[in-house]
Amino acid sequence: MNGKVLISGAGVAGLALAYWLDRAGCTTTLVERSPEFRRGGQAVDIRGVALDVVNAMKLLDDARALRTQLKGMSMLDADGNETQRTEERTFSAGRLDSEDIEIFRDDLCELLMGAMSDRVEFIYDDSIRSIDDQGDGVAVTFASGLDRQFDLLIGADGIYSNVRKQCFDDESTVVAPLGVVLALFSTPNLIDLIDWQLGHREGGVGYVIYPSHDKRELRIGVGFAIPAPAVARSDTEAQMRLVASQCAHLKGDFPRFIDAMKVTDQFYYNELAQIRMPSWSKGRVVLAGDAAHCASPFSGQGTSLALVGAFVLVRELVRHWDHPAQAFAAYEHRMQPYVDLNQALVDLTREGPMPDDAMTEAKNGIDLRDLLSELV
Ligand SMILES: Cc1cc2nc3c(=O)[nH]c(=O)nc-3n(C[C@H](O)[C@H](O)[C@H](O)COP(=O)(O)OP(=O)(O)OC[C@H]3O[C@@H](n4cnc5c(N)ncnc54)[C@H](O)[C@@H]3O)c2cc1C
Repeated sequence: MNGKVLISGAGVAGLALAYWLDRAGCTTTLVERSPEFRRGGQAVDIRGVALDVVNAMKLLDDARALRTQLKGMSMLDADGNETQRTEERTFSAGRLDSEDIEIFRDDLCELLMGAMSDRVEFIYDDSIRSIDDQGDGVAVTFASGLDRQFDLLIGADGIYSNVRKQCFDDESTVVAPLGVVLALFSTPNLIDLIDWQLGHREGGVGYVIYPSHDKRELRIGVGFAIPAPAVARSDTEAQMRLVASQCAHLKGDFPRFIDAMKVTDQFYYNELAQIRMPSWSKGRVVLAGDAAHCASPFSGQGTSLALVGAFVLVRELVRHWDHPAQAFAAYEHRMQPYVDLNQALVDLTREGPMPDDAMTEAKNGIDLRDLLSELV
């Protein structure tokens, strides 16, 4: 496949797309607004058919070696006292005896980056300012002033996608808010937590804490209802103040975590939502990952959806390179039922842990055998 493709966003979806496009012979460019590779975040899950995709990338053994290796979890009350303990499951990964892989998001991204050739071009600290779909190609101007021409543009720039804002419907018509904030931050491993997860869920505030793969850091996720008025998406200091005030009643070690949050450089804040769009493509522009169909971290399936969607999109492009509209329609036709099953999981998590049978159905909810068998 001999074409030039621009991907906006170097998250899981963008990197997986770059891997498959590179492998298919495309000249691939990634533009990422962060100044460098983004670290931080908690663990994400690779489940069901996404494991087949990672296997087809020849990365399954490496991904397994990077698993979080948690051995169980404790639930704590607001004073930090243990109220429940189990070695059968964790809050974040579900049952520990399953084949699924729980892996830190940055470890997975590093793995994907290492698997592609050095032909893939990375442009950091930049973003797309304007997009002109000319019918036979896409002219793009970057915020830095750079002008470039591509055959196709893929928006893989997350839930509040820049490409989606510029080329598709008004954001307010496709974002379905879930009413919850999720703040993620890293601290030094202040409590020497090893292979274990701590969780809390009481009175509208919840957290989950676990050590990074090398045990040197804690990765902490805090969730609570979106306040009114909401905090601006770009105002990190106000977001940190809000997290501190929402957690002020938490005792035990928690005040130390909040102090460490105030000086961390790895802080991520998101108002959770799902993305539901009538179509993921327009002309020569197409969306992937959270930009197209975010299911939210509550589903536990955003990363599997991104990995599978990237594979399906590139394989359909390989089949229909001269007719992108056909490739995009086939991609969407295959993916939509799988996305629907996974978005529906979120309603089930409002009461407590995800039911195992619903997750089993959703994680296997797409048949990739014909596409996988075409790989050489
Ligand atoms: C720092 C971070 C931490 C996360 N931690 C967790 C977690 O702990 N648990 C969980 O379930 N999910 C987490 N997520 C979300 C999870 O990674 C995604 O739901 C899932 O992997 C799908 O990935 P995606 O590539 O579609 O989106 P994302 O992972 O959100 O990646 C989108 C990428 O696009 C980039 N981007 C955004 N706007 C622009 C722009 N204008 N121009 C260029 N690039 C842009 C972003 O910097 C990011 O690198 C996190 C996301 C991020 C960015």
